[in-house]
Amino acid sequence: MSETYSSLCILPWLHVYVGVSGSLQSCCIPQIPQKKLSETTPSEFLHHPSMHSIRRQMLKGQWPEQCLPCKKSEELGLASFRLGSNQLFKEEFDSPRRNPSEYFVTLRSVDLRFSNTCNLKCRSCNGFSSSAWRDEHNLIYPDFPVDSKVLNLDIDLLEKYESLNQCISDSDLSGLKEISFAGGEPLLIEAQYKFLERLIQMGRTDIILSYTTNLSRLNYKHWNVLELWQQFENENLHLSLDGVGEKGEYIRQGLDWERWLANVQKVRQLLTHVRRDIHFVVSVFNILDLAFHTSEIIRLNIICSDENGNYPIGFTCLDWPPYLDIQVLPSDLKTEAKNRLYEYIETSRPCSSLKKALHGIIQYMGREERCADLGASF
Ligand code: SF4
Repeated sequence: MSETYSSLCILPWLHVYVGVSGSLQSCCIPQIPQKKLSETTPSEFLHHPSMHSIRRQMLKGQWPEQCLPCKKSEELGLASFRLGSNQLFKEEFDSPRRNPSEYFVTLRSVDLRFSNTCNLKCRSCNGFSSSAWRDEHNLIYPDFPVDSKVLNLDIDLLEKYESLNQCISDSDLSGLKEISFAGGEPLLIEAQYKFLERLIQMGRTDIILSYTTNLSRLNYKHWNVLELWQQFENENLHLSLDGVGEKGEYIRQGLDWERWLANVQKVRQLLTHVRRDIHFVVSVFNILDLAFHTSEIIRLNIICSDENGNYPIGFTCLDWPPYLDIQVLPSDLKTEAKNRLYEYIETSRPCSSLKKALHGIIQYMGREERCADLGASF
């Protein structure tokens, strides 16, 4: 690829993120939204001046301000949402490279966040992202309170649309290649099930379904998600898991490890076409035994390697709240964590993508010494 376009991401040409508040963005990476779903449709939003500006910068090889998290991850050798999206839409990605224009846009993908309803209270989360967190959130962040436990897509929308699952029009839906669902926990959100039923009724079972899920529940009300997924051709499950066994249960409070493993087994046995990957948030809670958790994931066959022998394990180095960031650890613990990861790399010879990611995590940890500023609050 030409160096001019080294920051190019396909998403601003074809994707819109719809947040729980009804905010519209170029993707799920936090940014200041310019419009709400109550004011415009996702396909119209692709033509908003803010989206033109993002595309123009990318065509000049610049990184838009809101895309710096992807740049940061890539500089560390970690996977980024940009690289994953460019791979998923590799056919479409060719188009702005061959015919660079900020104007040729088509809605092909939406990310729908219907609600923050969630059954887990992960230690690094907050009340905007999990309904289970509201009370603790308002104690820790009194200046940014969440008003109600469950946040649903903007109430104005219900005046505009018959129901939440109508917020994407039939004509937009007919052009879509992918829909992403996240939450909260999408498998506990009624609107998500109604959306799937609508897709089945429309005969759009060819659409790619992507879920970011804790996979702790496969049934909700009268729905069984496996029965619905069986009717679709193409699904990606991004499984959030920050540790195995008791450690995983400690970090993601409410997780039942044995039940989670049983749910993964059911998916493996009943839905062989579903692709699974694992995502870890790296924090002070798991850095010291990260090698153990990743090797267990592989040993238990929770995920499968690709044709190059690489396992789909992604990592994000947490930077909020700052007191859980691995950069805050005192130097002796950083050394211990680093030595353990190096030992794992040398003795277990992990696949090349995992090796690269672990080196990136070590690099991130050593980049700043924040113990003096924040160690006391940990
Ligand atoms: S580069 Fe990253 S932040 Fe920017 S639009 Fe793409 S995925 Fe989102």
